[in-house]
Amino acid sequence: MKPIPFNKPFIIGRELELIADAVTRGHLSGDGHYTKLCHRWFEEKLPCRRALLTHSCTGALEMAAILCGIQPGDEVILPSYTFVSTANAFVLRGAAPVFVDIRPDTLNIDEKLIEAAITPKTRAIAPVHYAGVPCEMDVIMDIAQRHNLLVVEDAAQALLSTYKGKALGSIGHFGCLSFHETKNIISGEGGALLVNDERYTERAEIIREKGTNRSQFFRGEVDKYTWVDIGSSYLPSELVSAFLYAQLERAGDITAQRCRICSAYAEQLAPLEQAGKLRLPHFDADSNGHMFYILPDSLATRTALIAHLKARDIHPVFHYVPLHSSPAGRKYGRASGAMQVTDDLSARLLRLPLHYEMDDADVARICAAIHDFF
Ligand SMILES: *Cc1c(COP(=O)(O)O)cnc(C)c1O
Repeated sequence: MKPIPFNKPFIIGRELELIADAVTRGHLSGDGHYTKLCHRWFEEKLPCRRALLTHSCTGALEMAAILCGIQPGDEVILPSYTFVSTANAFVLRGAAPVFVDIRPDTLNIDEKLIEAAITPKTRAIAPVHYAGVPCEMDVIMDIAQRHNLLVVEDAAQALLSTYKGKALGSIGHFGCLSFHETKNIISGEGGALLVNDERYTERAEIIREKGTNRSQFFRGEVDKYTWVDIGSSYLPSELVSAFLYAQLERAGDITAQRCRICSAYAEQLAPLEQAGKLRLPHFDADSNGHMFYILPDSLATRTALIAHLKARDIHPVFHYVPLHSSPAGRKYGRASGAMQVTDDLSARLLRLPLHYEMDDADVARICAAIHDFF
């Protein structure tokens, strides 16, 4: 039997052709032909006000933290159940992450607990759209407005998911996307910062270009370029942008295929949910099929199930160690209130294999093995 890996990077269309074309064009550093095509794609298709490719979502989050004007001693509210970069980006600026528990249904930050975590030091909220399922953005934006806070959406998993018709990543002041090879649309490593508030677009360009006004210089807005602000090098090479653009051309097909796999999982595992053996994810028509997880009743069941599947060469994976209980999370941040849902669900959640090249037979084999286990 062939192994079914958790994830598998893939090529779907003109990736290699466009990389060859980028080389032929003679411009391999950042902001060439393909980077500009990618920027336009996001700005028109999502849409969003300004898209800037970065070398990773981590880089986009770091840029957002600088743009938020985060200073040492500030606080930023975020879920504990997330990837380290959501917190690290703000800690690098001297802020303390304040962790809030998640909702049991979507595993997203529980919007009802956010206001209790706000202090005079709070500057921003960083909601994470886990599994590409939207956070309650209306409530979060309303809280932010009333308390004068900025919102940085960690939309790393959420490209082409929507909330009330709006693209995730385009709702907060900033949105951060990832094209890491484990995400839906990939370029190996890669990311984008979406700047949705006009007031920040110029500074975003400067921070991304090592703190220089190089972008303005190339547009003929200034007659020489120089060091004007803090910044770093956040641009991807044209090789990466060319690969990414070839994937964006097929973004609809990629999303549809992932949603199809999720529906097949949901259908074939529904009897186990009805029998009370496990819980299936909250999964709407407006999400992008990023992830399919199951929630067995305990850590012991999860551990036994992983062994059962691995013995059949099927490779599921669990997910985050909650940040509030990690060594760095304890050192730099604090939890606001109990973290009961986070602790409970993180110990039980199991992500099933999901990648573009999986077929119906793979899904059927995985589901049969899970039925067999229970
Ligand atoms: C993948 C991921 C990131 C980091 O993305 P990179 O592009 O690898 O830096 C950040 N946050 C979340 C929620 C993620 O899933």
